[in-house]
Amino acid sequence: MTAPRLEVRLDHLGHNAATLVGRLARRGVAVTAVTKATLGSPEIARELLRAGVSTIGDSRIENLERLRHAGIDAPTLLIRSPMISQVDRVVASADVSCNTEIDVIDRLSLAARGQRRRHGVILMVELGDLREGILPRDLDDVVRSTLSFPGIVLKGIGTNLACQSGVVPDAVNMAELSRLAAGIAERFGITMDVVSGGNSANLDWALDRGSDVGLVNDLRLGESILLGREPLHRRALDGLRTDVFTLVAEVIESKVKPTVPWGSLGETAFGAQPAAVDRGDRRRVIVAVGRQDVDPDGLVAPDGFRILGASSDHLVLDAGDHAAPVGSELRFGLNYSALVRAVTSPFVATTMLRTPVLT
Ligand SMILES: *Cc1c(COP(=O)(O)O)cnc(C)c1O
Repeated sequence: MTAPRLEVRLDHLGHNAATLVGRLARRGVAVTAVTKATLGSPEIARELLRAGVSTIGDSRIENLERLRHAGIDAPTLLIRSPMISQVDRVVASADVSCNTEIDVIDRLSLAARGQRRRHGVILMVELGDLREGILPRDLDDVVRSTLSFPGIVLKGIGTNLACQSGVVPDAVNMAELSRLAAGIAERFGITMDVVSGGNSANLDWALDRGSDVGLVNDLRLGESILLGREPLHRRALDGLRTDVFTLVAEVIESKVKPTVPWGSLGETAFGAQPAAVDRGDRRRVIVAVGRQDVDPDGLVAPDGFRILGASSDHLVLDAGDHAAPVGSELRFGLNYSALVRAVTSPFVATTMLRTPVLT
């Protein structure tokens, strides 16, 4: 089989999505599944839709176009503010986009009229994390303009916390979002179809029976579905699978060698100078994967192996008591950073699976 490859357990993915959809449905919250870490894979999107997510969200228009070309006609949400240079593509392939700039919405309106379509807008509100968002004091002005643009439908408001500054979604900022939504609905005499409370970092708050979800009726979930973890402390979520993705790489050298390098030492290929502890002679293996394929700091080595370092094309491990012969394969877990790099690397193949692989 080809290596390196990313194996995707679609059954585990479906389990994670269905579990979160079920738990959040009890709180009146729908799930927009975020596929950006999978390059908008149609197989993955189909599995997520089967599991009951209401919408597919992605940060890249290329990924939403890929889903449309594959025949997926589920509602789509562009979760990053559109580039003005891409408004025509956004209107063609995204039903709704998240927005913070009147100039962009103006151009979306032009594009929508040109294509004789209606384009939905969710206005993102800044609630302290300092990435995208309209400051609450400016929100009424932006709502007023949005409502005036032909071809544009104001779907609701949303916010995004945790990603830039680590601000935790909690009772205070989520109540603020609901209050803003209620205020807009009342002052402008409109209904807010969508109040999108945030990302996987919102799950602790949203699933806590003590918290009031208020008007929040949607979450945009990526990492929790894909990796089974919440992103604030990277804890595994109760009942979810953390092994949806596995990176498989092939051993190209396996030798017993000293643990301490010899000769005078300068910088390594990537700067850092790892201090070697003398453990005598140990089995050392090289697998054919590197920084061009994956973020090595986000890999979890197989049991009994220890990652010693990585350059662009080589990952070096201490093999412990394993024989790890040349030509054999090693299987690694991935964090979000490693996953994104693997999915976007042209050197890593992706294999979709429904059942365990016998190893
Ligand atoms: C990436 C992203 C998400 C999904 O975040 P996860 O932590 O992976 O759930 C949601 N909303 C926005 C705006 C994003 O950029």
